Amino acid sequence: MRDTVVRRLFYGSLTFGIWTALLFVYVHHSHVNNQKNNIPVTRSDFLTLKTNVQEKIIDSSEQVTKPQVTDKTPYRADPRKQTSSSVSGEDSEYVDPDVYDAFLKYGFNTIISKILGNHRNVPDTRDKMCAQKRYPFRLPVASIVICFHNEEFNALFRTLSSIMTLTPDHYLEEIILVDDMSEFDDLKERLNHQLELFRGKIKLIRNKKREGLIRSRMIGASHAVGDVLVFLDSHCEVNKVWLEPLLYAISKDPKVVVCPLLDYIDERTLEYKPSPVVRGVFDWNLHFKWDTVFSYEMDGPEGPTKPIRSPAMPGGVFAIDKHYFNEIGQYDKGMEFWGGENVELSLRIWMCGGQLFVIPCSRVGHISRSHLPGSSREMQEAILRNYLRVVHVWLDNYKEQFFHQRPTLKLLPYGNISERVELRKRLGCKSFQWYLDTVFPELESNIENKPF
Ligand code: UDP
Ligand code: MN
Repeated sequence: MRDTVVRRLFYGSLTFGIWTALLFVYVHHSHVNNQKNNIPVTRSDFLTLKTNVQEKIIDSSEQVTKPQVTDKTPYRADPRKQTSSSVSGEDSEYVDPDVYDAFLKYGFNTIISKILGNHRNVPDTRDKMCAQKRYPFRLPVASIVICFHNEEFNALFRTLSSIMTLTPDHYLEEIILVDDMSEFDDLKERLNHQLELFRGKIKLIRNKKREGLIRSRMIGASHAVGDVLVFLDSHCEVNKVWLEPLLYAISKDPKVVVCPLLDYIDERTLEYKPSPVVRGVFDWNLHFKWDTVFSYEMDGPEGPTKPIRSPAMPGGVFAIDKHYFNEIGQYDKGMEFWGGENVELSLRIWMCGGQLFVIPCSRVGHISRSHLPGSSREMQEAILRNYLRVVHVWLDNYKEQFFHQRPTLKLLPYGNISERVELRKRLGCKSFQWYLDTVFPELESNIENKPF
């Protein structure tokens, strides 16, 4: 008996030893091979290629003047982030080719996104006073609308799982996912399969053709059953108690539209970083910007938890009462892809009897991309046409101020706006002069050369 045990032990260790040795040889071999295939790409290679990509877009849009086709809206170029040429977030000379390819495809570091996987915990970035706040158990319930086009799977999934983890069930009616004709395979069957995890809280709508963000949101909203529509991008991570302050503000006044404070997720490292308290504004090119809120503006009893009046919304993330959204005319259906829609809706809210606030106690992280994958000439021109629609419907005689900056755009067609002009009349909206005087006087003082 003993002999048998000793023999078994001996043969067992021998087999184990042989397998370990084989494994070692295999791992070493594949490591060497990987090193051979990984011909390092230098940062300057990356920059040259990135510049080439951008130049291609500009070159192919000759009919539109060059400086204007690089148009980007809001936090598409986030002034709060540090600029760095490295896509990996490290200051090394070499960029992993996989990181680089993925960066071009998705606009951020998807290698790190894959490592982070389906879910992570993000730091609570709220002011301490926010944690003291209590919200009623009964509030309007939310339908969260998330549109995506060719999104990176893990980023999309983290958006969903962060919502499911940090939103009390009784405030969440549903999440409506609108796939705007994505082409990537993992967003098809695999996504269907993975969504089953969320046990029926998610409605998935697949567009039959690419509609663009603006119309996709309206499609999503038309399926909503909840009282409040909450729009999110497909690469966000919500923070603690993010939804309650938004729902609470709307419950007090349904004509109040609210944005969480957007924390910044670094496109290179995916690190989640807190944002200072900011409000949304725009310049005479209608480019959205963040604007500092001074500490004396938060002096009252509510301190840094006080909602901040905001002349404009960043676009991607906001909450609005569903009936109010319909009443004030949703979005302009004549707009394509995205761009300008946030300024248009902001003007419409303020000028037609509503109000817009940033709520600092509600925090949502968003991956800010400086490189937008899939930009085409068609898309660039569409964005400009969207801007023109805003100018012609809402800017009254201040439209000359816009064209003063960009005279060549006067010649670009922008489609039929009669329905939107009619809407403005029907809603009895105030003048752009009223908006400048009452909501955003800083813009008028920025007129350098008043041409009229
Ligand atoms: N999106 C879409 N269809 C489009 C363009 C964008 O559904 O034609 C989605 C996109 O996947 C994202 C959201 O709309 O979830 C906002 O787009 P993006 O993040 O590119 O805008 P940014 O954050 O850069 O302003
Ligand atoms: Mn986005």
